[in-house]
Amino acid sequence: MINEKNLQLGTARSAIRELFEYGKRQAALVGAENVFDFSLGNPSTPAPKEINDAVTEILSTCDPIAVHGYTSAQGSIETRTAIADSITRRFGTSADADDIYVTCGAAAALCCSFGALTKDNNTEFIAIAPYFPEYKVFVEGAGAKFLAVPAKTDDFQIDFTRLEATLNPNSAAVIINSPNNPSGVVYSADTIKKLSALLERKSEEFGHPIYIIADEPYRELVYDGIEVPFIPNYYRNTIVCYSYSKSLSLPGERIGYIYVPKFADNSRQVYAAAAGAGRAMGYVCAPSLLQQVITRCINATPDLTNYETNRKLLLENLTTYGYECAAPDGAFYLFIKAPDGDGNSFSEKAKEKNLLIVPGESFGCKEYVRISYCVDTDMIKRALPCFKELIEC
Ligand code: PLP
Repeated sequence: MINEKNLQLGTARSAIRELFEYGKRQAALVGAENVFDFSLGNPSTPAPKEINDAVTEILSTCDPIAVHGYTSAQGSIETRTAIADSITRRFGTSADADDIYVTCGAAAALCCSFGALTKDNNTEFIAIAPYFPEYKVFVEGAGAKFLAVPAKTDDFQIDFTRLEATLNPNSAAVIINSPNNPSGVVYSADTIKKLSALLERKSEEFGHPIYIIADEPYRELVYDGIEVPFIPNYYRNTIVCYSYSKSLSLPGERIGYIYVPKFADNSRQVYAAAAGAGRAMGYVCAPSLLQQVITRCINATPDLTNYETNRKLLLENLTTYGYECAAPDGAFYLFIKAPDGDGNSFSEKAKEKNLLIVPGESFGCKEYVRISYCVDTDMIKRALPCFKELIEC
């Protein structure tokens, strides 16, 4: 007996992974230097030196059994305290260890949050398109329904008329990802204020809180001094899902957390239900070594030099060639409008030149393609003539 839905999920790769695997096969045929792979969001900047130093020090000085042992299901008290103190210090709120659940990256944090808020199979979660494609998989995996509301296409901020029309008594939460994958856009304080006012009003009308799930793996990856609003400071019913995958270049290490503020409605039940969802899915006791690393390196910051260079290089050249793109404030993606208005066919055309860019359809915007610029700068330089030819032909 096989679960058909999971069989299908496990057989068909995501569009991003499909392209990445294709790139590896092409590299073996035509040489890696002739394949321009902009598919995956795998950080191209090494983890900060203090991370590697901490790993070495922990392994050489700590109790060799405890270092790899289980921690509490929700994460060690030391790690949760370090994270809570850092949130308190940075955002002027008052987090403590009991508000934090340490997870295997943002993916597990999101799955636990969806699991916590899914009352029954009528429960709905709303994302703003463009959105990270795995949201749909995670929401449906929790037994709920996934809905997408298109953003305004001029600046990719939230379209409140459409969002209001979509909210209904089954709405459990709105998923906000800022800086956004794939558009790179940061939702402004004005957008977050309007969103808070709308959700307050609708929560009142429907007689239950509608939460914001703030998915924040790119929080620290921002350019030109832009500020990312800390959403719990604007809307109390916020659940933050954070990850060190992108900010500290640790995607394979699987470490992140959920923060459920004490001042959120039903805060302790939401926290307990997230922990319960974690238990049901086996997302307990996030990697112990990495918990210790994060405890020691809680103030580590990313080196943005490579991403800043790549962003400037691509943005300046692509807009000169005539591509349309909302200026990305953060993350490491450009979401450009396909010149022929069809992201799928444009991605296919690009593929013929071994230029791998992801069609926007899986992000909920089929007129666009995503370029992931966490890559080697020389590869961008080599790829630029291809981008130029593609818009000219
Ligand atoms: N959310 C967004 C917007 C992402 O882009 C990603 C990964 O690319 C994730 C969540 C998952 O992150 P993690 O690797 O921490 O599970």
